[in-house]
Amino acid sequence: MSERPILVLDEGTTSTRAMLYAPDGRRLGMAQADLSQYYPRPGWVEHDAAEIWDRTLACARDMVALAGGADRVAAIGITNQRETVVAWDRRTGEPLAPAIVWQDRRTADHCAALREAGKEEAIQRRTGLVIDPYFSATKMRWLLDHAPAVAAAGSALAFGTVESWLMWKLTGGLHVSDASNASRTQLMALDAADWDRGLCDLFGVPPHALPEIVDNIGPFGETQDQWFGRPIPIRGLMGDQQAATIGQACLTPGDAKATLGTGAFVLAHMGSSVPVSRHRLLGTLLCRLPGETSYALEGSLFVAGSLIQWLRDELRLIATAEESEAMARSVPDSGGVAMLPALAGLGAPHWRADARGAIHGLTLGTKRAHIVRAALESLSHQLHDLAGAFAADGMPWRALCIDGGMSANDWIAQDLADILQLRVDRPADVETTARGAAMLAAVGAGLFPSLAEAAGAMGAERRSFAPALPDDVRGERLGRWQALLASA
Ligand code: ADP
Repeated sequence: MSERPILVLDEGTTSTRAMLYAPDGRRLGMAQADLSQYYPRPGWVEHDAAEIWDRTLACARDMVALAGGADRVAAIGITNQRETVVAWDRRTGEPLAPAIVWQDRRTADHCAALREAGKEEAIQRRTGLVIDPYFSATKMRWLLDHAPAVAAAGSALAFGTVESWLMWKLTGGLHVSDASNASRTQLMALDAADWDRGLCDLFGVPPHALPEIVDNIGPFGETQDQWFGRPIPIRGLMGDQQAATIGQACLTPGDAKATLGTGAFVLAHMGSSVPVSRHRLLGTLLCRLPGETSYALEGSLFVAGSLIQWLRDELRLIATAEESEAMARSVPDSGGVAMLPALAGLGAPHWRADARGAIHGLTLGTKRAHIVRAALESLSHQLHDLAGAFAADGMPWRALCIDGGMSANDWIAQDLADILQLRVDRPADVETTARGAAMLAAVGAGLFPSLAEAAGAMGAERRSFAPALPDDVRGERLGRWQALLASA
């Protein structure tokens, strides 16, 4: 009899998915449902937590049926959009307010006040995070101040990120959050890996409302019979970017991955040392196992794939995102055109919210293809700046593993290798987030003794891109980018 598969619940921002993985890493099936996005005011982004649960359950049931029933599933692994806050009532198990999504900026004033009060350095030292509405703590406080049902719930109030909410529903009342998700709330001290009383006081979040912080590999309980007929053990929990790092088999210090989607997220494994960036990167918990905690440095770009969407939908220079590749190859270089993709300010390591984008070097000889090529080149330059910040923080990348929708573009993969002067590896299956959650759950289910062995058995095949650009051409590109940055 073949070994039982792992069920992964991958709860993203725009969709929720359930996937089934065989212990040899093959993906056996996937069910997907879109999630409604609510934008009640400029800068506000909400989800309906009840919908997240309903749609996740429906997708999970499809995959359990595909496996042949709950008895045929070895374990569940959950991975999720991080930082998003759900508030629910412990008595009823029902949401008390709309979930506030990670992109939501409504707590900008609260964050500015904390920064003005001089709190940032101490908070960054404790949590690895800069003060920003992105993280969960100010979202929780906002709900206490503005959502009447949350304010009135008293000791029945439960807060959690999305994996915590799904755990509560699946198990019928277990209130836990894994350490990787907890590290994004800004309420957890990185070194203690527990809620920090001082931070809870500072942000005004009552500790009694918070979940218990657990490791990334369990046992964490099992699903109630009513969901799948029979219980299924839940063995892996992890936030999406950390799970992608594990799914890329970035398991030793210096291993780095970049997820190139709408934005880009780079995480580098830091081993067991608690990261404190001096170059405006984020320190975060990567994975907590019994007696062994690893950390990562993280840098994010706000604009990556969204630049390609903009070329397609606004400038109409390309008809599809895929066409950008053929267009970039149709010219030998960008014809002297350079693009600063600061369409939403500049993220790490520059953190220039005010910066505006620019296209420089136009002549009558400039073709569409030159502009498209300059746009693609700008991704490599942004990642090169990030690479510099990681190196300055003591963690130079040895190679870069890429995934996400944009990584399908071979021209981009090669250009990254050329500009970073590093080997760039791309797995055949770029769904590395779900694969990471499958690896965690497989270890939790006892199928493998360690993540390294799970990665060996379940890791996808890779294609490598090696640097090939002549030094003088590379130098010229880097020089042009620096000039453009300086003028921004
Ligand atoms: P997310 O998870 O953030 O929704 P995905 O990982 O699905 O994003 O990636 C989608 C993004 O990748 C889109 O912004 C799209 O423009 C870009 N993209 C997809 N295919 C390509 C391609 N072949 N070349 C360049 N960009 C691409």
